[in-house]
Amino acid sequence: STATALEEEPIKPAVQVEHTQLLIGGKFVDALSGKTFPTLDPRTGEVIAHVAEGHSEDVDRAVAAARKAFDQGPWPKMTAYERQRILLRAADLLEKHNDELAALETWDNGKPYEQSAQIEIPMLVRLFRYYAGWADKIHGMTVPADGQYHVQTLHEPIGVAGQIIPWNFPLLMFAWKVGPALACGNTIVLKTAEQTPLSALYAAKLFHEAGLPEGVLNMVSGFGPTAGAALASHMDVDKLAFTGSTDTGKVVLELAARSNLKPVTLELGGKSPFIVCEDADVDQAVELAHFALFFNQGQCCCAGSRTYVHERVYDEFVEKAKARALKRIVGDPFKSGIEQGPQIDSEQFEKILKYIRSGVQSGATLETGGDRLGSKGFYVQPTVFSNVEDGMLIAKEEIFGPVQSILKFKDLDEVIERANNTRYGLAAGVFTKNIDTANTLTRALRVGTVWVNCFDTFDAAIPFGGYKMSGQGREKGEYSLKNYLQVKAVVTPLKNP
Ligand code: ADP
Repeated sequence: STATALEEEPIKPAVQVEHTQLLIGGKFVDALSGKTFPTLDPRTGEVIAHVAEGHSEDVDRAVAAARKAFDQGPWPKMTAYERQRILLRAADLLEKHNDELAALETWDNGKPYEQSAQIEIPMLVRLFRYYAGWADKIHGMTVPADGQYHVQTLHEPIGVAGQIIPWNFPLLMFAWKVGPALACGNTIVLKTAEQTPLSALYAAKLFHEAGLPEGVLNMVSGFGPTAGAALASHMDVDKLAFTGSTDTGKVVLELAARSNLKPVTLELGGKSPFIVCEDADVDQAVELAHFALFFNQGQCCCAGSRTYVHERVYDEFVEKAKARALKRIVGDPFKSGIEQGPQIDSEQFEKILKYIRSGVQSGATLETGGDRLGSKGFYVQPTVFSNVEDGMLIAKEEIFGPVQSILKFKDLDEVIERANNTRYGLAAGVFTKNIDTANTLTRALRVGTVWVNCFDTFDAAIPFGGYKMSGQGREKGEYSLKNYLQVKAVVTPLKNP
């Protein structure tokens, strides 16, 4: 059985950890304090490596390097075509090192290796090729002003970008942040999540091999309240981009405001509805709703974590959703055919089990799962609740784990009202064959992404971001460039006075 298999020795990853230091001014260096912190293998809770722990004085050094690279270095001034070629070379190197990057990603994060190697690293490469494509397509405008003036806008890089990323998609979050910032000619100080520092350090080294000038991309590993807060409140950081929880989003927005009013992009939490309409093919709906929730161990900000099912198909849906969860293959993420690995760490693991207990206590029906799996590491049984009510904690708060909550609805107006009755507004799934139903829902849902008969489609060109407390601004696509550009209006009389 799965539980027995989890007692076996974990599979040894086919990669060495080469980089554990901070990357500042093009060089790997220790933290000034000499401190390190352990990064853990979520399969066992054992130490993979000790990583340099950046504090505010290291953030100062990294920002100084980024400042110098922006003010005096070649990067913002080189031709767009040269910048594009460096990004394309970096993408080639990332592609060449697909398997090492995938192994580091899985080792540090716990996600299935096949998902890393076949989906996420190829997406990473695709993202950087996409952004390389933008580097030489950033145009200003000419503006028809009143009077005899020639007026133009220059779209200039904003300067030093501070970027803070989470642990659920370490490399993809790295790409969503670094891609547009570099395409626009900015320099960067990026703080990885303390749970997953390894893969992005390796990727950053490849950018330097590709010819990125020193100081353009600086990497600081460390914790939120120290390194993260130092970056968010730094007087010499010109722009902040953050992905993480809504609570921490509020903190960094305040730090940015209290320091130098740097503009902030936020990509925060969600409690996304997945709406299964009465005309749905139930088997297909079950499969997609399962994917929408359980993908990446349920650790997605946009997870379809409120599965609303029309009363006409509800009983059949619940039966089949339970059967699908029971079939989910959980195990060592380095094994082939595994659908679900361990959760990221003990804190998230405990939090998920607490939400499961709260679901049971509040009267939801536990259809399957509900407990840990195995005796070591952070594996959680795929869990399904039916008879969930909107007011229960499991229907209101972000669980960030493999826990599906199924709710019943009667008609469209009702489900629109209930789906929108949340402070979040990140994404929604709609499953129907009826075009009128699809159109009604897509326009009524107050969310940044509606996936109709699909979910988690994340092409580089599709903008992503939240309404309401799910965030501010958009990442990916053309919209993301705005985050990293300043607009300068240049006004010249047509004739000298
Ligand atoms: P999670 O609870 O999922 O770990 P967080 O929002 O706490 O989400 O973490 C996302 C990122 O924000 C991580 O890189 C983390 O280190 C960082 N972070 C956490 N607290 C702070 C803070 N007070 N200031 C700046 N960054 C922070």
